[in-house]
Amino acid sequence: MEKKTEEVLLNEGYRKYSGNEIDVYFNKDICQHAGKCVKGDPETFNLERKPWILPKDERVEKIREVIDICPSGALKYKLKEEEFVRP
Ligand code: SF4
Repeated sequence: MEKKTEEVLLNEGYRKYSGNEIDVYFNKDICQHAGKCVKGDPETFNLERKPWILPKDERVEKIREVIDICPSGALKYKLKEEEFVRP
């Protein structure tokens, strides 16, 4: 898969949700509303809250797990020490 930087994602219309250890990116135009994120980690992904994504340090492993199974590619993440976003 092509490796992307944060800059590329933001240009593609993703919004950034910053944490200390991990940043999460979301593109609402791509989301298929499959709900894997809100069901998989309701503490991080909560549509009733603003911001609806809160990337806390203690949730990093879970956040990665959930974003890896997002079927549309609407969610991405980047660990702070890394250069490229995943997946
Ligand atoms: S898992 Fe991905 S496609 Fe499904 S609701 Fe969340 S962001 Fe949208």
